Amino acid sequence: MNLNQGAIPLGRVAGISLYLHWSWFIVAAIEIQWHSGRYGSIVWNVLEYLAIFAIVLLHEFGHAFACRSVGGTAKQIILWPLGGIAYVDPPQRPGATLWSIAAGPLVNVALMPILWVALHFGGSAGWQDSMPDVFNFFFALWQINILLLAFNLLPIYPLDGGKILWSLLWFFLGRARSLLVATVVGFIGIVGYVLFAIQSGFSWLLVMAIFLIMNCWSSFQYARAQIQIEKLPRRFGFACPSCRKGPPIGDFWRCGQCQQGFDTFQSGAVCPHCRAAYGSTICIDCRRSYPMSEWAKGGASAGAGGTFGETDLTGTL
Ligand SMILES: [Zn+2]
Ligand SMILES: [Zn+2]
Ligand SMILES: [Zn+2]
Repeated sequence: MNLNQGAIPLGRVAGISLYLHWSWFIVAAIEIQWHSGRYGSIVWNVLEYLAIFAIVLLHEFGHAFACRSVGGTAKQIILWPLGGIAYVDPPQRPGATLWSIAAGPLVNVALMPILWVALHFGGSAGWQDSMPDVFNFFFALWQINILLLAFNLLPIYPLDGGKILWSLLWFFLGRARSLLVATVVGFIGIVGYVLFAIQSGFSWLLVMAIFLIMNCWSSFQYARAQIQIEKLPRRFGFACPSCRKGPPIGDFWRCGQCQQGFDTFQSGAVCPHCRAAYGSTICIDCRRSYPMSEWAKGGASAGAGGTFGETDLTGTL
């Protein structure tokens, strides 16, 4: 699923590009119509929907800023009818990943006392009678915030709860095995989720289920492939600056020029078939690219220096 198609740029905040998918407007129109009886004026329904938008946005910023605080990158947030997605890339370590994920739900936790105070202030000031729309608005936000928090904490990969489970298991099982366990738990969770969705009759829960199943399945397959990669024999003298793994020995890199496979760590980032030189080499384990000199620095001994070209060398696995 490529959400970038049909995403409307809203601007940049702290170096993060915000996008809104066009389908958000359609779902917003349906939702606002649907609940129009809840307030005295439909304006409040619009405000409520915009407030949900703001809560989701704050949640995504929680992920983005937490990721940056541990040295990762966060460049983009997309909002769509099923919520928001922060494109974050934390360093490939369990603690950094855990913090980047947990910070999203923690924003919802932080909003709880704020909304609670607003609700109780309104309650004691008699808003239920004097300003029922204002009171109902804060009450709806209080409920929605808790629902969003509870939903996101379900242990279904790729929901935050499933990813928190993954990063906790990562401390004990390693990156790939923990992901495998988290996706299997995710499938079990999805079965329960789908049964609940059918019973509740909320069609958007079922739409969400399709998205979850697709994501969980591709992550499960990725985990299986990564476990195979982890079994490969490793070369000493080099290590990935991000995940700190040594590169596997073998022809796992494909030359972009002649399309032949070769072992770039044996030939010093130069294709032995056509002599094309590469400025950066991708890590088969974590898919990040670094110049050969960075790889050598991470290794136990200073390896061969790199020849720097223009292009990225991508893995064949
Ligand atoms: Zn989240
Ligand atoms: Zn790596
Ligand atoms: Zn070549």
